[in-house]
Amino acid sequence: MRPAHALIDLSALRHNYQLAKSLSGCRAFAVIKANAYGHGAVRCAETLQGSADAFAVACIEEALELRAAGIRQPILLLEGWFEADELPLLAEHDLWAVLHHEEQLLQLQDANLSRPLHIWLKLDSGMHRVGFSPAEYASVWQRLAALPQVASLSKITHFSRADEPETGRTEQQLATFAAATAGLEGPASLCNSPGILAWPQAHHDWLRPGIMLYGATPFEFEQDNASKLRPVMQLISRIIAVRELPAGEPIGYGSRFITPRPTRVGVVAMGYADGYPRHAKDGTPVLVDGQRTGLIGRVSMDMLTVDLTDLPGSGLGSAVTLWGNGLNASEVASWADSIPYQLFCNLNRVPRHYRD
Ligand SMILES: *Cc1c(COP(=O)(O)O)cnc(C)c1O
Repeated sequence: MRPAHALIDLSALRHNYQLAKSLSGCRAFAVIKANAYGHGAVRCAETLQGSADAFAVACIEEALELRAAGIRQPILLLEGWFEADELPLLAEHDLWAVLHHEEQLLQLQDANLSRPLHIWLKLDSGMHRVGFSPAEYASVWQRLAALPQVASLSKITHFSRADEPETGRTEQQLATFAAATAGLEGPASLCNSPGILAWPQAHHDWLRPGIMLYGATPFEFEQDNASKLRPVMQLISRIIAVRELPAGEPIGYGSRFITPRPTRVGVVAMGYADGYPRHAKDGTPVLVDGQRTGLIGRVSMDMLTVDLTDLPGSGLGSAVTLWGNGLNASEVASWADSIPYQLFCNLNRVPRHYRD
């Protein structure tokens, strides 16, 4: 069998969820949209079933997959519904919904539902993607409060730069949120992972940890709380060929890398078809037998090449970790001008093996 696989450590997932909770004492939606950031939504939900207050996903398709698997907790749809015909299903399957747009309000008002819905009213506090403006927020809230289709109302907003504490942007968003929601009684949810890890004053009632659940740091700098996360995914393979090249020889497509010295090249069964980022630069860290070395040459579809010159004990069959323990996906991502979110979501072809 091809040795490339993703090893998913479910106990690390539990640990990371508990870390989010322990930093605040709030309740927390475990965000498992996009197939739990590539980790397998059903397995992740089953793992957290005993501990998670609720889950959050991007759409009803993702939520119904969890319901079909027997997940019973509340599930929040982070963009609510996209078409009015989803509304009866939301009621039937007890799905909570973000409401971010006037059109959704009109559809809700016209809906004939088996029971009223739990609505999270989105405020655009400065991200300028979705949500009602601060000026209109309170009046939309009052209209919703009067609807028989609404079981409860909660407040939600999203940070654009919580991973960059020095910019002042999060303070502005917090002030906007406080002003726009003043006097509106109900639970609030503001924090994504960087908010949870770095903005205790923003925690409020419900956290929304996503990337931190999977053990990747959202920060580009060392951060105390983030250092307590445990990577959930190990992306693993093996060396499947070794060759010795003299100085001055090109490696791989486009001859991007030219050996600067006599070089021992290891070929790894892992490529961009597996989700490894094609834009990873020469020098991107890779662990071979637990030791750091670097990528050399362009990543191809099924293989990539690493420098084994300084690892004389490693060779054919050596274990390779592309990210995981000892090499955070965030670090790999930064070498590919990407973010760990995208690395995880791009995971493809490789089988996932679970360990608890
Ligand atoms: C995806 C998402 C989250 C989780 O964000 P992380 O940065 O992964 O923690 C939280 N809230 C909303 C609205 C989201 O879309």
